[in-house]
Amino acid sequence: MTLQERDKKHLWHPLTQHQLHPDALPIVRAEGALLYDEQGKSYIDGIASWYTAMYGHCHPQIIAKVQQQMTTLDHIVFSGFTHAPAIELSEQLIALLPDNQDKIFFSDNGSTANEVAIKMALQYHFNRGDQRTTIIAFEDGFHGDTFGAMSASGLSVYNGPFEDFFIDVQRIPTPTTANIETVKEQLQTLITTHRVAAFIYEPLVQGANAMHMFDGGLLEQLLQICQAHGVITIADEVMTGFGKTGKHFASEHLETQPDIISMSKALTAGFVPMGVTSCAGYIYDAFLDNSIGKAFFHAHTYSGTPIACAVALAGIELLQSDAIQLNIQRIIHSHQQFDTKVRQHPLVKSTRQLGVIYALDLAIDMDRYGNKRYEIFDHFMRQGIYLRPLGKTIYILPPYVITAQQLTLIYDAITALLDQL
Ligand SMILES: *Cc1c(COP(=O)(O)O)cnc(C)c1O
Repeated sequence: MTLQERDKKHLWHPLTQHQLHPDALPIVRAEGALLYDEQGKSYIDGIASWYTAMYGHCHPQIIAKVQQQMTTLDHIVFSGFTHAPAIELSEQLIALLPDNQDKIFFSDNGSTANEVAIKMALQYHFNRGDQRTTIIAFEDGFHGDTFGAMSASGLSVYNGPFEDFFIDVQRIPTPTTANIETVKEQLQTLITTHRVAAFIYEPLVQGANAMHMFDGGLLEQLLQICQAHGVITIADEVMTGFGKTGKHFASEHLETQPDIISMSKALTAGFVPMGVTSCAGYIYDAFLDNSIGKAFFHAHTYSGTPIACAVALAGIELLQSDAIQLNIQRIIHSHQQFDTKVRQHPLVKSTRQLGVIYALDLAIDMDRYGNKRYEIFDHFMRQGIYLRPLGKTIYILPPYVITAQQLTLIYDAITALLDQL
């Protein structure tokens, strides 16, 4: 039996209607920006495997650090014990994050990082004797698939079976120059009519919402309203973190800093899952008390596991290297040049870019997971390019180590698609 046949016996894949799409493609090896299937055919990983493997797959420098960690200390309970990799990672992250961030809390993935952020915000108010129960979020945002994170996600077309169990979330549109005054009024009204605990948002780019981008200055106005009313601001940087927007964190494009920041994905460079929720000192202080009841009772068995910390440390070292920083600038420039050529194409409705994130909308109507989307996907795969179109949006979010030649192959495949459509 082939790997593909064996896969079908017992595996249940995420986001997959197995009756329509029974075949998963076995990938046997990955290196740098390339994935290899069983026949040895290579695919350029144009989305860094969901924006995780930003320094390239199987990076030898990360492998060396992990190997070393594995032979020294594998795992310990992070309640009562501590260890050097976690301590060092907290120091490195705090140095990298916006100035107001002071404490680091570990969990397992992006959804749990947001779950922690939401629980932190709720308990922050609770501990101060101010019970607040409503969370504000953007329409069409995405924060993950656990219950709290899913409730905050506006992209809930596929959440039908669960909606009765959601926490209380009120939504506002992402701001534009045209709607900003209305959105500000909406936010003000929500804050006066509800007991609002927190506002959770993806700063500047909504990844799952087809890389929708919006203006930082407008977001800033919303954050200021929140902060004037004691509403905790939570920046979900799970997608945007670690260099993708051209700064280490998207929040750095703004002057108003969030109270809480959630991270995952590129944090552990595609090697192992890990989530981090950072917060300002005053959030942490609200949990200090002589009674245990005000402590934060949220734990995962693998919280702060040393191996994931070692990966994250190796990743941060790479992020700060001259080589990666130069690569980021090269990709930004390269996308800009491609954009000047492609944006005139009659089948391109609009294009947008922030840092190494580039997206274009096709001027045709398509369902998010419709047949046309799969045809386009196959077009790229046949040419050895892994892109994952979101409906009519084609986006590139390549690993920083992608070569100029590999990037050109992606651009050429997009141009060829436009000419064929
Ligand atoms: C991917 C993502 C999440 C969820 O992270 P998981 O690790 O898949 O649970 C949350 N927020 C944003 C912005 C994301 O891109």
